[in-house]
Amino acid sequence: MPVLDFETLSHVINVPASARRLLEHSEKEIYCSISLRVHTDRIIEADCYVVYHSLARGPAKGGIRMSPSVGINCTRDLAERMTYKSSLVGLPFGGGKSGISLDPSTLTRFEKTAVMREYCHMLHLELEHGVYIPAPDMGTDATDMAVIYGRFDRPEVVTGKPPRVGGLPGRNEATGNGVAHTCALGAAWLWNDSSARPLEGKRVAVQGFGNVGRWTVHFLHEAGARIVAVSDINGGVYDEKGVNFDALWNLTGKEIGVTDIGGSTISNRELLALDTDILVPAAMEKQITADNAQSVRAKLIVEGANGPITPEADEILASKNIPVVPDILANAGGVIASYVEWRNAKSGSVTRKQDTYCTIKETLTPAFERIVDMVGDKKVSCRTAAQAIALSEVIEAMRDRSWI
Ligand code: NAD
Repeated sequence: MPVLDFETLSHVINVPASARRLLEHSEKEIYCSISLRVHTDRIIEADCYVVYHSLARGPAKGGIRMSPSVGINCTRDLAERMTYKSSLVGLPFGGGKSGISLDPSTLTRFEKTAVMREYCHMLHLELEHGVYIPAPDMGTDATDMAVIYGRFDRPEVVTGKPPRVGGLPGRNEATGNGVAHTCALGAAWLWNDSSARPLEGKRVAVQGFGNVGRWTVHFLHEAGARIVAVSDINGGVYDEKGVNFDALWNLTGKEIGVTDIGGSTISNRELLALDTDILVPAAMEKQITADNAQSVRAKLIVEGANGPITPEADEILASKNIPVVPDILANAGGVIASYVEWRNAKSGSVTRKQDTYCTIKETLTPAFERIVDMVGDKKVSCRTAAQAIALSEVIEAMRDRSWI
């Protein structure tokens, strides 16, 4: 099912039937079967999917997800979100995604490198020609991107590389940086706060403590927010006065979870129902559903993860007047930083970390302003406004290219 609700959107903007037909399906899908003998008694087998949703605005950009639950539908969904994420913030990219159906925690570093090399081997032509530019997503990281770079020796082939091998200072934390900035924009808007620190004292709960959740917590803390709850797959911690940030930040190691910092614990379900100012679901898709949306009490939701709220839950939240800043804006910090990394790779420029943060802020802010203007003018939700703006940009690109 497409991510975009074309029925609703066609009441807001003009959606030509030809554009709709193109965007309701992926432009191209590739399936590869990976089978690798890594030891005399061990073969690694995995399905691998690569989806280009739309190349209307540029080469397909999107991360590589490595997870046992990834399949073609999940890869399609994520590729489609990438199309609209890039177009909403004005980047010259189309939408793409890769999915490798493996649990990375079962692989040694050596085995993971072998899998990434095989991925490059199978997708050699796509990557070489620059039609698809991968980056990290759940289950992959900068080291994996360095493996891809090593196969081609061209820094523009992949983004999210370590800074010493053509990566961008600030790229690793870019998504969380953007999520925290979007929380600030949302808070300033909702509470009509024109101060420089609209997050000061705001009570925030964050679900997920991986790349996105951890860095979101970091930047929210820096902005003066009070982090009252944080969770990972095994549950969370809760403290109305604010959880111990230093203890959280210093957590390292594969086996360690957020509950290891001690204090009161909380389930993921309870975290999503907390009475907070801001809730940031930053773990994975479909966390707020028709089943639990009624219990949500946050005053504002900012989607750190891709698709954490189902369409049915969206309607329930709207009936409760809880605004949702959608994923295609809130977590676009990563692709914005990727764009800077890709542009630097082509031009030979370098960028400092503070400039990366600055670019994220300067790109997200006008996109947010466009969204709230449309919310005011057309009396639609933030999600509908964001999708309408993103879709109209893709449609215009299709016109520019005489596709429609
Ligand atoms: P990650 O694998 O680094 O972290 C995921 C976190 O979620 C972990 O703390 C894990 O324990 C937790 N988690 C997993 N299942 C859970 C569950 N059922 N309940 C509660 N917690 C659970 O992944 P990430 O890179 O942080 O990505 C998180 C989300 O953000 C994904 O939807 C991803 O597509 C999206 N995203 C990531 C990036 C990026 O740059 N990494 C960019 C844009 C969007």
